[in-house]
Amino acid sequence: MNLTQLNKNYNTKLKCLNYLEKLRWGKAVTCTKCNSDNVVDLKNQAGRFHCNECKTTFSVLSDTMFEDSRLELPTWFQIIGLMLNSKTGISAKEIERDTGVTYKTAWYAAMRVRCAMIDHCNIELENIVEMDESYFGGKPKRVVLPENEPSLSRVENKRGRGTKKTPVVGIVERNGNIVLKVVEKLTTRNLLAMLNEYVKTENAVVVTDDFSSYKGFDAIVQHLTINHSKKEWVRGAIHTNTIEGFWSIVKGSIRGNYISISRKYLPFYLVQAQYVFNNRNFKGNLFERFMKEALKTNPVMEHYKPIKPVKEIVHPKCPPKK
Ligand SMILES: [Zn+2]
Repeated sequence: MNLTQLNKNYNTKLKCLNYLEKLRWGKAVTCTKCNSDNVVDLKNQAGRFHCNECKTTFSVLSDTMFEDSRLELPTWFQIIGLMLNSKTGISAKEIERDTGVTYKTAWYAAMRVRCAMIDHCNIELENIVEMDESYFGGKPKRVVLPENEPSLSRVENKRGRGTKKTPVVGIVERNGNIVLKVVEKLTTRNLLAMLNEYVKTENAVVVTDDFSSYKGFDAIVQHLTINHSKKEWVRGAIHTNTIEGFWSIVKGSIRGNYISISRKYLPFYLVQAQYVFNNRNFKGNLFERFMKEALKTNPVMEHYKPIKPVKEIVHPKCPPKK
């Protein structure tokens, strides 16, 4: 659904409520606490129902990401539409400009939307899968030439393994889905745990580079290695180009939209990147698909209350108001 359609079809609270009620309940409204269908709608409060069994009142927003939000539903719809339409991520600053809400509101809403993107159906990867790690974080440092010997070979630009950046591990099935995780330490044990959680090891061939922590894989799964340390990048179908292409897109979008993201909030942006990637070939109505998930009871979303918006997430062209 494009944004013009969205703004036209869901420009009032009532229209939004009707849409959500249809998605959540179909024709028969059931109590969000006890599931009974012995409910009546409260005549003087649009969208609220009373359950005759457990005597509670509820609405379609109860126990969902929209509960306890003062943001108007049509604005929620706009923000979700903006975020789903953007293939490379969107900053709170842009949401502020596009919808007229404050930066703080935009930031909270975007975080809740990201929480709703957490994939609950178990992702299982098989066939040819590529596994690789990448390092996120830190503001881009200015490269300084050494004073005495202005030689490019002396310029230090540390990246990757051995730096203080945050390691993120990704596993992608070729032509399939991706899974991303922030991993505290890149040990064989941690990498194997992730492999076992997301990959059907009996049905998969795993391609990695020759990083030593992947060496333990051989005993568990069919494992092929490409020797990056010997400058070997592709050997027939043995390569990690899919996952490496993904890293460069995600990093580009973080640089373009947010400059940098703190370690604490990085997982939320990874969730969004994962969601966009895994839905890249979806031909149906993505807005509806998202809303169906968003209407499910979700403890992550209900309890997600970050302390304050972080300063780092700033659009480069639009610095925050002083
Ligand atoms: Zn009830």
